[in-house]
Amino acid sequence: MQYAQEIWAKTLEIMERELGMSRTCIDTWFVDIKALSFSDNCLTLLIKNDFMRGYVESQYSKWITDALRLLFSMEIRLRVVDKEEEVQEVSKRQFDEEYSFERFVVGNSNTFAHAAAKAVAQAPATSYNPLLIYGGSGLGKTHLLNAIAGTIEKNNPSAKIIYVKGDDFTNEFIESIQARTADEFRNKYRAADLLLVDDIQFIAGRERTQEEFFHTFNALYEAKKQIVLTSDRLPKEMVNLEERLRTRFEWGLMVDIQPPDYETRMAIINLKCKRLGLELSTKQKETIANNVTSNVRQIEGTIKKIYAYSELLQTDTTQDIVERAIKDMFQEHPGLNPTPEIIIKEVAKYYQIEETVLIGKNQSKGTVLPRQVAMYLIREIIHSSYPDIGKMFSGRDHTTVIHADNKIKEMIKTNHEFKNEIKDIRNNILES
Ligand code: ADP
Ligand code: MG
Repeated sequence: MQYAQEIWAKTLEIMERELGMSRTCIDTWFVDIKALSFSDNCLTLLIKNDFMRGYVESQYSKWITDALRLLFSMEIRLRVVDKEEEVQEVSKRQFDEEYSFERFVVGNSNTFAHAAAKAVAQAPATSYNPLLIYGGSGLGKTHLLNAIAGTIEKNNPSAKIIYVKGDDFTNEFIESIQARTADEFRNKYRAADLLLVDDIQFIAGRERTQEEFFHTFNALYEAKKQIVLTSDRLPKEMVNLEERLRTRFEWGLMVDIQPPDYETRMAIINLKCKRLGLELSTKQKETIANNVTSNVRQIEGTIKKIYAYSELLQTDTTQDIVERAIKDMFQEHPGLNPTPEIIIKEVAKYYQIEETVLIGKNQSKGTVLPRQVAMYLIREIIHSSYPDIGKMFSGRDHTTVIHADNKIKEMIKTNHEFKNEIKDIRNNILES
C-alpha cells in the first residue's frame, strides 16, 4: 500500500510538472484518490464516489497512464475500483537501500562478484544461472544478494522474489512436513521469479532438504527463473553435498570475494564514515585500515564503536578512541585474535577430547592427530615459533612440531574431507 501510494504521489507530480495539468484540477479530482496496490505492472486506484470514478476514468485515464509511462519507461495499466476489499497489496519494497549496488565499494577483491551480480540484476536468467558468490564471512555476499534483489524489485515490482537463508529453508521445510503443508512450501518456492539462497552450504548433509531443493532448482531453472546462491566455500568443498546438486551449482557462474586490499578498505572506511556523519582524520582512517584487515563487517563494527564512543564522551574523535575501539572490537570476539589457549580449546572440543589430554603425553591414535592439528593451527594462525609451540604441548621437541605441521599440510592437500574439517575448526575458533 505504501509503495502504491508513493507511486501515485509521483504520478501526480509528473502530471503537474511534465504534462502541465493545473494544480486546481489535481486538487479537484485527484487528491482524494487512494492507491491500493501496484503489481503485475498495474496500478490500482480506489475511488469510492461513483460520479468521480466515472469522470476520472473517462477524462483522465490517459493522463495517468502517460505519467506512469514516463515514470517507469514502460506501459503500466490502470485499474480503478470502488471497494477497498477488492484488491490487496502484493508487492512492497522489502530490500534495504543500505545493501544496494550504490553503497557497495568495488575493489580488486570483489570486482568479478560485483560485475556478475550487476549483470544478473539487470538481465535476470539470461546470462549466468545460477550465480554462486562464495567467500569468507563479512565480505559482502549478503550485501550483493540484497542489491540484486533490490534492483530487480525496482525494475519489476511485480516479480516474485524470494530471499531465504540456507538454514531457514531447511527449517521451514522440516516444519512444513510436520505441519503437513509441504505442498504449500513447494508451491511457494516454485512460483518464484527470483530465488536467492544465502549461505546455501547449510543445506548440505540434510537429505530430504537437498532432495526438495533439487526439485525446486530444476523447476525454476527450466522455467528460466534466476537463481542466486551464496556460500562460504566452493561446491566441491561442501562435504555431504549431493553430487547432483553440486553439478547444478556449478552450471552457471561461480565468483569469489576476497578480503579487501588496503585501498578498498580505505574506500569502505570513507563510505561508512560518511553514512554515519563521522569525521575522522586520515591518520585515524589509516589506523583502522592497518589493523582491521580481513573482514568488512569488522571494519563497520569498529567505525560504529568509534562513533558511539565519541558520542558518549561528547568529544571529537581522538586517536585514543580509535585505538580503543579497535581493541574492544577484537576483544568482544576473542576468536578474531585467537590465543593458543583458544585454539587448543576449540580443537579439543571438535575432537571431543579433554584439553589436558590434547596437550599431554598420551600417544594413542585418537589424540595424536588432533594434537597435530592444534600445532598446525597455532602455527598457521598465530605464527608462533616451532620451539614455542613445542613448549605448549608438554615440552615437546621442535622437530615434533615441524613434523606435525608438514603432515597436516600434506593431508589438507590430498584429503578433501579433512581440509573441510580444518576449515570448520577454523570457523569455530573465529566465532568463539
Ligand atoms: P557476508 O554475507 O559475506 O558475510 P555481508 O554482506 O553481510 O557479508 O557484509 C558485512 C557488512 O559489510 C555489511 O554491513 C555490508 O554492507 C558491509 N560490506 C561488505 N562488503 C562491502 C563493500 N564492498 N562495500 C560496502 N560495504 C560492504
Ligand atoms: Mg551473509
